[in-house]
Amino acid sequence: MARYTEPVCRLCRREGVKLYLKGERCYTDKCAIDRRAYAPGQHGQGGGRKRTSEYGTQLREKQKARRVYGVLEKQFQSYYEEAARRSGITGDTLLQLLEARLDNVVYRLGFASSRPEARQLVKHGHFDVNGRRVDIPSYNVRIGDVISVREKSASSQKFKEVLEAAKGKTAPAWTERDLVTRSGKVTRYPAREEIDVPVTEQLIIEYYSR
Ligand code: SF4
Repeated sequence: MARYTEPVCRLCRREGVKLYLKGERCYTDKCAIDRRAYAPGQHGQGGGRKRTSEYGTQLREKQKARRVYGVLEKQFQSYYEEAARRSGITGDTLLQLLEARLDNVVYRLGFASSRPEARQLVKHGHFDVNGRRVDIPSYNVRIGDVISVREKSASSQKFKEVLEAAKGKTAPAWTERDLVTRSGKVTRYPAREEIDVPVTEQLIIEYYSR
């Protein structure tokens, strides 16, 4: 499956905000954006022409959201189209669809230190959904679904560390987590104010509505 291959810290520097793609490192003084808060490349330090058009602003916002959730263009557009089809506020629905991705839910439950790590752990088959192995990061988690670390995976050194780290992380209010059974449930979809991603979704809607 296609995925980003660009060094991830460059993506944060490109967007000018922390996208938290590298787990614990993002919270230390090793964070690249804290050290060099300008865009990568030869035009990054102010020499290049700034993109100030309405289109440019909308495009950047869409790119930022894609990078936060690690979704490629075609799939992101599908999320937008699905959100536009549904009733309700399209921007809120778009973010809810992205939050309901299995890799994001794993990350939100604290079973991975970043979304890219969650994606990798899911792809390697370490999680069950309702008791059945699911290794598709984009799998759409529904209300009531129970996500659990597989029995065999839980005894590995990696998951011992992951589960130890999870103790220090609070699971979101729209989930229920049980660290004893290494599982979590989505009890409802998050409200907009519960989604802490640094994007203005209205600009993304405007981008696709051109
Ligand atoms: Fe982004 Fe994390 Fe890299 Fe900082 S350390 S630039 S937040 S991915």
